[in-house]
Amino acid sequence: MNVLLTNDDGIHAHGLNALREGLSGRDLRLTVVAPDREQSATSHAITLGRPLRIDDTPRGYAVDGTPTDCVWAAVHGILKERPDVVVSGINHGPNLGEDVTYSGTVAAAFEAHILGIPAIALSMTDRHEGDWAGAAALAAGLVELLRERRPARRTLLNVNFPSGPASGWGAPRITRLGTRTYSEQLIENVDPRGRKYYWIGGAEPTWEGGEDTDFAVVHDGGVSVTPLHLELTDESARTELLEWDLSRVGS
Ligand code: MN
Repeated sequence: MNVLLTNDDGIHAHGLNALREGLSGRDLRLTVVAPDREQSATSHAITLGRPLRIDDTPRGYAVDGTPTDCVWAAVHGILKERPDVVVSGINHGPNLGEDVTYSGTVAAAFEAHILGIPAIALSMTDRHEGDWAGAAALAAGLVELLRERRPARRTLLNVNFPSGPASGWGAPRITRLGTRTYSEQLIENVDPRGRKYYWIGGAEPTWEGGEDTDFAVVHDGGVSVTPLHLELTDESARTELLEWDLSRVGS
């Protein structure tokens, strides 16, 4: 089984290293193609306006681009065979609710999804103290399940690990995306030269939604597994819009 590993925290990130260690020695052919530096919150950006440089390093292929560039370069150039699964992460920090739209970690999985390759995005809620080895072992189990079950539909799993040791997580739970209610802020300050600058931030998020949301499960100390797809059409709004008299805005 060919497994492509990538992330958005860069090829030197601890989470990617833990993932590689957790998946090694399991009859899996691992290839790492990852950004050469941190690319968090780059979402699904692809580099079209300049050339990409790709270095073959002891840690894997280091790309001076985004996570999406990495998947693109791997599938269309670097890899001799198409990967059977793309695993992205383990991200330093959660990717829950609407935050999946900012995430480079999840975007790499979306890119695989678009190419018809099953994908798993992995995120550690606790940026520093998480049980990385436990998360990587669980990721290996998910890869094995994908190999066994061979789901007919293209599958993208967004996985978030709670804080605390893996021994307390229990079996992963299937969830839906929750809705974040940030206390968003634009923090204004003054730089040493007297010029104002701004920093996008916010306090710890709270969330809305039931017990089956990703937020609720991770908060409860469990591993959240949310299947995602890119079918963005709003069917109920489409049905409603069909009733509108759009001849009034057309020529
Ligand atoms: Mn990241």
